[in-house]
Amino acid sequence: MNLHLQPDTIPTSTTAVPVTIARGDGIGPEIMDAALRVLDAAGARLAIEEIAIGEQVYRRGLTAGIAPESWDSLRRTGLFFKAPITTPQGGGFKSLNVTIRKGLGLFANVRPTRAYAPFVATKHPELDVVIVRENEEDLYAGIEHRQTDEVYQCLKLITRPGTERIVRYAFDYARASGRRSVTCFTKDNIMKLTDGLFHRIFDEIGAEYPEIEKRHMIIDIGAARLAAAPERFDVIVTPNLYGDIVSDIAAEVAGSVGLAGSANIGAHGAMFEAIHGSAPDIAGQGIANPSGLIHSGVMMLQHVGQAEAAERMHNAWLKTLEDGIHTADIYNPSVSTKRVGTEAFTDAVIERLGETPKQLKPVRYEAGAGGIPVRPYERKAPAAKALVGVDVFVEWRGSAADLALHLKGAEDGLLALQIITNRGVKVWPQGLPETFCTDHWRCRFEAPAGKSPNKASVAALLARLAARGVEFVKTEHLFTFDGVPGYSLGQGQ
Ligand code: NAD
Repeated sequence: MNLHLQPDTIPTSTTAVPVTIARGDGIGPEIMDAALRVLDAAGARLAIEEIAIGEQVYRRGLTAGIAPESWDSLRRTGLFFKAPITTPQGGGFKSLNVTIRKGLGLFANVRPTRAYAPFVATKHPELDVVIVRENEEDLYAGIEHRQTDEVYQCLKLITRPGTERIVRYAFDYARASGRRSVTCFTKDNIMKLTDGLFHRIFDEIGAEYPEIEKRHMIIDIGAARLAAAPERFDVIVTPNLYGDIVSDIAAEVAGSVGLAGSANIGAHGAMFEAIHGSAPDIAGQGIANPSGLIHSGVMMLQHVGQAEAAERMHNAWLKTLEDGIHTADIYNPSVSTKRVGTEAFTDAVIERLGETPKQLKPVRYEAGAGGIPVRPYERKAPAAKALVGVDVFVEWRGSAADLALHLKGAEDGLLALQIITNRGVKVWPQGLPETFCTDHWRCRFEAPAGKSPNKASVAALLARLAARGVEFVKTEHLFTFDGVPGYSLGQGQ
């Protein structure tokens, strides 16, 4: 696949960059026409290939919303400029965005959000924040299981390669765009291993960027502060789920959901789109605001190293906003001078190419700078790993004491029952009688110090449990890595 993002492969000033576009559904075709007109007039050098996505493809019975042959174009160009699609309701359909994100390995979702006061109403005129959201891991790996009658589980995966890549990307982005601080949001006071790793890698990699201020905040207080005082933030880097939520908080408080573009960046390609949906309620009326897609077009030009066209396009768009030429969604008689439709708005942006805003801060993009290079992951020497026990998860409807009695009969002098928890709360030994218990019990078997169980000892334990009729539903091996436990302690928080 085309790795056009690396600096040595950034096209020269005269080369047209191949890009796959899709017009999407609802207002998609109208705003794509508008964005392509502005890109062309701004001097973008793009060789466009068009593919069909969305409703028309879903209706052909293709549940992913994209035809297999369209992947040829995406593989060839490694660059996707996408209008929104309408996601069909009901079962069986897959999210096209997830398919494309996985297919192209788009690990970073980058959403710059700015206030455009006083031209677009907002309570936070100083807001100018970029959320860098990890895009592939966390609870979005989609690994879910129902384990007992009462309990369902979703696996949260945080990896060192995935975290290093997103954190480094956030710092490189901050450095390349002259930003002063990067804030990391996690919940590592509770999830000490998974979110703890994300925080630790943030500290490790952050040390390589001495000029950038580093902060860490627990996600709950971080999200609250972002909503109350977004101007205090600059770049935010965070795992997938938190990023999903705080991106929308930032866009909402900026008052610019309809104006924001986003980039999805990967080692094998990149995708650019508006953050809003296909707005079927206003489709075909010629009144949609094309700003979000125009904005993502600017991000795409920057990414492929066409800084001059990106700057012209962005400043012309800011000037249009500043001149009060507004589509219906942002029209406000106190600041707007003219209420326009999609086409007239687009004409106004094109007329202003070469102009810069006077009140809003003009943008300046460094000539020659392209997308942030995605550095290859350097695998570390593996830690010394030792098996020290096993957590056996059991479905059981009786009491903790009865379960313990039953399980202890399967001990063999090597793996002994140490603790039973229910939803993370210790219920044996010496549990509180008030603790409510579901039918899902974690039963921890550990070897005494100095003794080393192996996989065969674990399998033998399970065989003895099975012989006693214990309904075990899953196991998690307990390992130490260089002597440090790679599992949470028995008693949950
Ligand atoms: P939406 O963003 O399409 O619309 C929400 C509201 O904002 C509507 O009132 C709409 O008219 C207005 N709006 C949105 N964009 C506008 C624009 N550019 N100009 C003027 N007004 C605009 O969200 P929704 O209604 O929840 O979703 C509609 C469809 O879009 C759904 O099928 C959803 O799944 C899909 N969707 C797609 C994407 C994508 O392709 N990336 C993203 C979000 C939603």
